[in-house]
This record gives sequence, structure tokens and C-alpha cells, in this order.
Amino acid sequence: MRFDPETLTRLRRGIMKRGQTLATILSEILAGKDKDGSLDALGVGKPGLRPEERVRLALDAVEARRKLIDGDDDRYGRCDVCGEDLGLAALGEMPWADRCQRHMND
Ligand SMILES: [Zn+2]
Repeated sequence: MRFDPETLTRLRRGIMKRGQTLATILSEILAGKDKDGSLDALGVGKPGLRPEERVRLALDAVEARRKLIDGDDDRYGRCDVCGEDLGLAALGEMPWADRCQRHMND
């Protein structure tokens, strides 16, 4: 494993928190509230998608990262496209990150 247990705990907590934030926004959207501003601020999804689609895709991505980190999967913390290690500095900011800078918009 590339991360020590304390780092893993911290990263996992960040992923869970992101998931909770997104789940809360999803329930507010489903209750009819306009959360486009919140989604923009979180950098979630692509323009043109419906807000609930944006949140659902982001939730799926967060859940996929949680499974990797829980499974001690070496793909956690790497770019999904090229496998580059994203590095602890970037993961500390965004533990759910799944793309390097080059593939951010793929
Ligand atoms: Zn990449």
C-alpha cells in the first residue's frame, strides 16, 4: 500500500464527506430547489446535463473511489486514464480525484 493507515483514514473521511455533501444537494434538487450554483462551486459535472444527472454522476464517481480505497486497490489515487500517481498533495485537497491534470476533461 502506498499510504500509511492515518493518511488512508484521512483520505477516506474526505471521500465520505464529499459523498454526504452531494447526497444532501441531490435531495434538495429532488425537492425542487435550484442548486446549479452549488454544483458549479463544487466543480461537479458538465454543463448541459440536468442538475440531478450532474450530482448522480459525481456521486457514482465518489462511490467508485471509496470502493477502491476500501479495497486497498492500487488504482486509488491514480489517474483513471493514464495511471499516473496523483500525489498526496492533490489527494489531500481532493481525495476523490480520479484524473490527472492532463486528463481532467476527458
Ligand atoms: Zn492521466
